[in-house]
Amino acid sequence: MNGELSSALETIGPELLAMTRLFGLPDGYWDPPARYVMHAEELPDLYRIAFTFDALSAERTAPVPSEADPHLQALHRRRAARRLCKQALYDLLRKMTGIHPPWGSLTGVRPTHLMLEALAEGLSPEAAVRRLVTEYDVTLPKAELLAEIAAVQRKLPAPGDAFMDVYIGIPFCTTRCAYCSFSSGEIGNGRLVTPYMEALEKEIRACAPLIRRSGRSLRALYVGGGTPTALPEKEFRRLLDIIRGCFPDACETTVEAGRPDTLSRDKLRAIREAEISRISINPQTMNDRTLQVIGRAHTAQQVREAYALAREENIPHINMDVIAGLPGEEEPDFARTMEAAVRLHPESLTVHTLAIKRSSRMSLENAPLPDGEKTARMVDLGLQTARALGMEPYYLYRQKYMAGNLENTGYALPGHACLYNVDIMEETSHILALGAGGISKRIWPDEGHITRAPNVSNIQEYISRVEEMIQRKSDLFLQDPASQNEP
Ligand code: SF4
Repeated sequence: MNGELSSALETIGPELLAMTRLFGLPDGYWDPPARYVMHAEELPDLYRIAFTFDALSAERTAPVPSEADPHLQALHRRRAARRLCKQALYDLLRKMTGIHPPWGSLTGVRPTHLMLEALAEGLSPEAAVRRLVTEYDVTLPKAELLAEIAAVQRKLPAPGDAFMDVYIGIPFCTTRCAYCSFSSGEIGNGRLVTPYMEALEKEIRACAPLIRRSGRSLRALYVGGGTPTALPEKEFRRLLDIIRGCFPDACETTVEAGRPDTLSRDKLRAIREAEISRISINPQTMNDRTLQVIGRAHTAQQVREAYALAREENIPHINMDVIAGLPGEEEPDFARTMEAAVRLHPESLTVHTLAIKRSSRMSLENAPLPDGEKTARMVDLGLQTARALGMEPYYLYRQKYMAGNLENTGYALPGHACLYNVDIMEETSHILALGAGGISKRIWPDEGHITRAPNVSNIQEYISRVEEMIQRKSDLFLQDPASQNEP
């Protein structure tokens, strides 16, 4: 292997491991003494990468990208070499196992990016679907789903350099879900609520002016966490007042109200008075037994009551999150959740696939992922339910450690797509993220590059270091672009 190619592939190990997992092979599969051999070479204008395993082999070639700009050329060459390497290993694993993963060889890349990229190159939707199927081995239904999502996204108001989204994190929940790896803390005795909210107010007031000072306008605002409605009523109202005062001109505002047992008429009134356009009440499942198993301290009946209360208070848009593949659930259980979704008729529905994230309780207990094919049928029922509700798919993302290597898909009634969800997944908008664990992002659309400024996740540390968090955002959005644009 020559120098440039070898340095491009130097750190590819984790990505090859992710590829191995796509086929359900254990992490130790390639441990020494490895039975596979990789051969990579750069011919005058071609990369060639081959993998062999015993008598099986797979080889791929790709043109070496060449651009006038040396920075872009280095970036594109590195990406092309790594993509090629993963695809060659994918071909080998396909031969070895006979498995066809639903998303083909795609790992570590947002599938909608590839679809939008193909359309931006001038390909028709049909040709873009063909490219995903032939180049990445994506199954046809998944590629067609992407084409549909891209069509919806292209009708939305375009984001871009002139706009910024705001995220505000409330890292408290009433209890912790078994699959959750967020850094949110249980609200417990509420000891940290007041100092946290004081620090957050300081950060909001100091950072809100950065939007205008950096020459941009506010686009979407999202209050998430955690569960913002887990805050006591007084603190919740105060938060909404601060938000309204500091960000009066958001074209869309969402407040997560994930746990139905955290909602009250007073909080819903506060939401309506603050002109919040969208809330999310998330059953995850409508089966009481599963709700207990996954550690959510509410019942399906409380979900129904929360929806009724929110409707009475004229909340304009309610989103519902559900999860396919929850522990102990079979297809009839998921079907019951979908029937309830039809009755509650949210304006948008997000169908997640269970993912067991590293620091979650399920991961610590070594809980297994559910059967991939069964989960795929649930995900498909989610899609059919969304269609029966008159919704269209508008965003999609995948995560590590997901059942069946499937996906999470957001559906919404026409005209109800959440701009923030699209922006965060497609990474097309600057993000000013406030609160513990928030990650602010400055995008560089021309270079395809993003600079990040993370806030610390630990709640106590956030409280004591809030001035430093404010400074990070100021540096990110006001500093000279040239000094930040490093590869
Ligand atoms: S409600 Fe969300 S943030 Fe809170 S514990 Fe459950 S998954 Fe985590």
